[in-house]
Amino acid sequence: MENASKFYIDGKWVEPISHQISELIDPSTEKVYAKVAMGSAADVDKAVKAARRAFATFSKTSVSERIDLLQKLDAIFRRREREIAETVTQEMGMPISLSTTGLLDWCKVHTAETIEILRKFEFAEKLGTTTVYKDPIGVVGLITPWNFPIGQVFTKILPAMATGCTMVLKPSQLTPLDAIILAEIMDEAGVPAGVFNLVNGDGRTVGEAISQHPDIDMVSFTGSTRAGVQISKSAADTVKRVVTELGGKSANIIVDDADFPSAIESAIANCFFINGQACDAGTRLLVPRNRLEETVKLAAAAAEANVVGPPSDPKTTLGPVMNANQFKSIQEHIKSGIEEGARLVAGGLGRPDGFEAGYFVKPTVFADVQPGMAIYKDEIFGPVLSIVAYEDLDDAIRIANDTEYGLAAHITGKDMEKVRKLARELRAGSVYVNSPDWDPKAPFGGYRQSGNGRECGEYGFNEYLELKAVVGHG
Ligand code: NAD
Repeated sequence: MENASKFYIDGKWVEPISHQISELIDPSTEKVYAKVAMGSAADVDKAVKAARRAFATFSKTSVSERIDLLQKLDAIFRRREREIAETVTQEMGMPISLSTTGLLDWCKVHTAETIEILRKFEFAEKLGTTTVYKDPIGVVGLITPWNFPIGQVFTKILPAMATGCTMVLKPSQLTPLDAIILAEIMDEAGVPAGVFNLVNGDGRTVGEAISQHPDIDMVSFTGSTRAGVQISKSAADTVKRVVTELGGKSANIIVDDADFPSAIESAIANCFFINGQACDAGTRLLVPRNRLEETVKLAAAAAEANVVGPPSDPKTTLGPVMNANQFKSIQEHIKSGIEEGARLVAGGLGRPDGFEAGYFVKPTVFADVQPGMAIYKDEIFGPVLSIVAYEDLDDAIRIANDTEYGLAAHITGKDMEKVRKLARELRAGSVYVNSPDWDPKAPFGGYRQSGNGRECGEYGFNEYLELKAVVGHG
């Protein structure tokens, strides 16, 4: 890819200030397939200066000008969407059946939703004798992970553009190529110079430079809790706003009156979504104790029905995990599950039969998982499900909330009154009832160590706005 050796700053493709190159490894072959430039603090500074200059005028653009830009972005994205999906599939192993559907839909539906909100959004509100103005916060630093790459980038660039902010994006160093295509799209769409800037690089260098930069007003970060803590600390000296979307260990509660065959099939699909690498996956499956053995049989069969294979094959449902580190960490968790006495009912250690290379993991299910075990507590970020038995619904609530995280929870059950009551007791930012279609209006974010702030829909706009109260206004 021509622009992989450059950064997009101030409306131009520019050479990095220092010349560092990183090799990108295809997770299904373990072979190098591309090289990308890695930035430095000096590149970040250059991008921030461009964004600051652009903010002076972009923050004053009209709503209709910004809607026009978003519509142009959408039209060009649609023209290049197949290329984007194939790029993501190579970068991080997302099955092509998902990258060409759910991933692209996420970007397009959120664009449409952003335009709809922007049309109606009140940037000034009267309260008593006060007018409250909602001003764009300024220059925003956007740091994103690799697991749903272009999707997470869209979740941030859309509200930033809609509210009149200017930005510096640092995507994951493992998935920079889809963001390079996005920068090309921004350029073609005529986004004014400096409004959108892209600097590739690693967390410790470019990410840290963004978090610390005194002229960045806010950082919006999606990624691990470990990095979220680091970013919050680095940002503290300059008192910038920090929005963090972090990890999870979400519960999936199956109520006794659920239709078990379909509920367990959905639970497996949910846990193994994006090769087991979704932040809000229901990785702890909670079932009534008297339904445990039935659940074990259904879960093992559903896990084994997965088609593990190259992500570019349309039949594949489970591709490789991201890289050697992820593979190693997942294997260590499976080993710990066995050693700590959980019952392995599907999958296990090593690659699936027939795979000599690639970071492929066996679809794995454990039963009899107990509090205290690593597979009960840790975000494994791989296709590994932990089944936990509960005595009654109070016990299910206790187990579901027994985590340092609070990103999501899932419930399947027929008695809606019972289900609603249960949902109110769960300490999680999203509660998904009966495997719903995803709703772009729903705010997304976590309680506890799953983060601070919300993304998506109208609530997502608020993160990018400062409030100014003009008091005594009449
Ligand atoms: P990661 O934290 O390793 O990296 C995410 C991004 O942060 C990358 O761009 C990385 O370069 C950067 N980074 C890392 N250390 C940094 C530092 N010290 N300072 C600044 N930037 C730094 O996460 P990952 O492995 O790319 O993604 C997986 C994690 O993301 C999982 O924990 C998952 O749950 C989480 N996630 C959360 C959500 C959500 O919305 N809550 C969504 C997707 C993924």
